[in-house]
Amino acid sequence: MKKCPYCKIEVGGDLIKCPLCQSKLMGEGEAAYFPRLENLQKRSLFYKFQLFFVWAILIIGLGLDFLLQLRLPGFPNLHWSLILAMWLVVFEFGIMRQFRPGTGSARKVTMMVIILLALLAITAYFFGFLMIVLDLVVPIVLTGTIIANFVLAMVDKNGNTMAYLLSGLLFGVIPSIILYFTKDEMPIAWIICMIMSVVLFVGAVIFKGRSVTAEIQRRFNV
Ligand SMILES: [Zn+2]
Repeated sequence: MKKCPYCKIEVGGDLIKCPLCQSKLMGEGEAAYFPRLENLQKRSLFYKFQLFFVWAILIIGLGLDFLLQLRLPGFPNLHWSLILAMWLVVFEFGIMRQFRPGTGSARKVTMMVIILLALLAITAYFFGFLMIVLDLVVPIVLTGTIIANFVLAMVDKNGNTMAYLLSGLLFGVIPSIILYFTKDEMPIAWIICMIMSVVLFVGAVIFKGRSVTAEIQRRFNV
């Protein structure tokens, strides 16, 4: 046990300085109380690097755009740096946070997909390819998410099938209903997305039927 000559206290572990007065402790130390944090420090350094790069790109972009009036060819009136800033801020506060330890559920992946699709749609609106994104990219990505969620629902042992099923059904069916009533012709990718979501929903009910019923009973107390 180490001792502080000034505070007259005993301090366990292998601390070098007194936790009260910060003086050097005397005596022999014991085995360390706390784990070494080298891994965490490395991660923290990486995090700071990426944070610095994100801010640097954001500030340089704003400077080139607003101060030097540097515009993208073909878009003389577009403040491209604001779109870039939107992506960087969402990347920093939306995406990087998902990689912290202790996080990592299908719901977060789904949220990320929704956020990224929203950003893509906004970007596409300003660059004039919104229709391609809405008719093609969004339904393809949502179909991929539905399939991924289905796989996760199949391997999930904690009985959280409902969340996956609902997200699949919402992604596939609700946009399709909206499109059906607002557009004369439904884009083929949306039709595939809708069919896939219904097929996988039926598949999940067939394969996981009992756990779905159990989960409904558990969640709604019926
Ligand atoms: Zn002390």
